[in-house]
Amino acid sequence: MKKIVGFVGWRGLVGSVLLERIIKKKDFKNFKFVFFSTSQVGFNNLYLNNFFKNKFLKDAYNLEELKELDIILTCQGSAYTNQVYYKLRKCGWKGYWVDAASDLRMKDESIIILDPINREEIIKSLNKGIKTFVGGNCTVSLMLLALGGLFKNKLIEWISFSTYQAASGGGSGYILELLKQIIFLNKSLNKDFIASKSILEIEKNVTEISKKSNFPKKNSLVPLILNLIPWIDEDRNNGQSKEEWKMEFETNKILSLNKKDKISIDGTCVRVGSLRCHSQSFLIKLKKNINLLDIEQIIASDNKWVKIIPNNKKSSLENLTPLSVTGTLQIPVGRIRKLSIGNKYISAFSIGDQLLWGAAEPLRRMLNFLI
Ligand code: NAP
Repeated sequence: MKKIVGFVGWRGLVGSVLLERIIKKKDFKNFKFVFFSTSQVGFNNLYLNNFFKNKFLKDAYNLEELKELDIILTCQGSAYTNQVYYKLRKCGWKGYWVDAASDLRMKDESIIILDPINREEIIKSLNKGIKTFVGGNCTVSLMLLALGGLFKNKLIEWISFSTYQAASGGGSGYILELLKQIIFLNKSLNKDFIASKSILEIEKNVTEISKKSNFPKKNSLVPLILNLIPWIDEDRNNGQSKEEWKMEFETNKILSLNKKDKISIDGTCVRVGSLRCHSQSFLIKLKKNINLLDIEQIIASDNKWVKIIPNNKKSSLENLTPLSVTGTLQIPVGRIRKLSIGNKYISAFSIGDQLLWGAAEPLRRMLNFLI
């Protein structure tokens, strides 16, 4: 009998990329499905209507409806997870819970899913009866796919990173706000003004507009356009942001590394104005001196999505920008070189679409495992 899958949070950024992928890969033929909403209960959603007739939205908080499902796949967010997950488990629901939100990632009862990296662990946990599977943090998943070969061959002593994370990481509201910021600047500038003023007068004017109290910044708190934000997620009150903390914690959990083998990973996470691709710059200390060609070979052979970009200006500009990667599953890794500080130190720069491999694709693949 076909399993019944309930989708919650499918209307958001991650959820709609997930639906797009499921439709493209024709996965819907393999299971029965029900769509839920926290805000549009009873609606016959116009977007869904393009693909499925009469899919009226059910109440995502109705435990009686949820209890009937074999699998719940939610991209709604941690607030929803916390409100529903524990109640459902408490009333005896034994189905599979697949989640994009971060809160359950830290729990012992959950597995963080990124099957090109931890497929064996996922299979083992299914055999053990684990029922809760959570997608990883976007930068963690993208780093692991990029450097999977080095991790799996146990070549990394430590990593220091700097990230350049897209607006989409903050959800649909964040993207819409970035666009509103562009419109706000655009309204206040015009061709004649630019043609008639000196470059310093134009610069001063733009800076003043960006600092206006009515500049749209409800989500980002400070302007993102023509700016950057060197803090993502909560303050852990030890100088580190929660986003930075996730890099080491989640990586070691995904790789199932115990205390003794744990890899130290730390750095700075920064929000920039790109749309939906996260970029990351890595400083890696290897456990031994390996020549560059071998390093590239180890990275390239780990999975079919990773691609080495030759370390020169032309290739980097053509293939190593958020715009060149957006909307694809590719994980280009470039700027690989030995650093002058020592022969075990290398740099690398990688980019990935954080809504695909960074969020939706591991969930879609997990759903297929379960089906
Ligand atoms: P989002 O775009 O803000 O969507 C979340 C929910 O907001 C939707 O499912 C929808 O729920 C509601 N919503 C209200 N107004 C909306 C509008 N105008 N358009 C679309 N949806 C609207 O959030 P998200 O970025 O997809 O993130 C969802 C979860 O995934 C979060 O826990 C996040 O931390 C996690 N995550 C996100 C990313 C990322 O890159 N964004 C990556 C990995 C994990 P209803 O239909 O019920 O109203």
